[in-house]
Amino acid sequence: MAVAIYPGSFDPVTKGHVDIAERAAALFDEVIVAVYAAPPKQLMFSTEKRVELLKKALSHLSNVRVESFTGLTVEFAKKLKADVLVRGLRMSSDFEREFEMAQMNKRLAPDMELVCFMTRSGYEFVSSSLLKEISELGGAIDEFVPKEVAAAMKEKFGYKNR
Ligand code: ADP
Repeated sequence: MAVAIYPGSFDPVTKGHVDIAERAAALFDEVIVAVYAAPPKQLMFSTEKRVELLKKALSHLSNVRVESFTGLTVEFAKKLKADVLVRGLRMSSDFEREFEMAQMNKRLAPDMELVCFMTRSGYEFVSSSLLKEISELGGAIDEFVPKEVAAAMKEKFGYKNR
């Protein structure tokens, strides 16, 4: 049985993330979407909210569950008996970062394999950070995020500039 872990900040989950989770769910027996509780960046949503939004966005996938974690991703993966790490790649800058992390993770957990999915055409420019910036400035982001996320972002920034 192949168990995969898909780690990320998911601040907040986008349709790009949902697409990767759907494709991983079709390939592996079980997929755990793992939310970094405290990534080294400023967050918009609390861990609880990021988990809640992901659970709603992925509720149609019966072999996917969502959990948060602290500490090293590979340690959490080992604890869950996951043998595969899933990540998504958009452009070449993603590749460089993933390549670096993959080399280090291989040292930390030699038995863990990394599977990277190429972004679906149309989602290559969809990133949580860009969507937060657009939303804060009053732009419409609805087509790039699950509906619960669009609502949560509108609530965060208020309806005043819409
Ligand atoms: P992190 O903080 O680990 O980069 P993110 O939440 O930004 O976490 O992303 C989690 C994973 O999903 C990363 O592997 C990232 O490259 C991938 N990802 C994010 N957006 C997209 C997208 N639009 N298409 C494909 N993969 C994506």
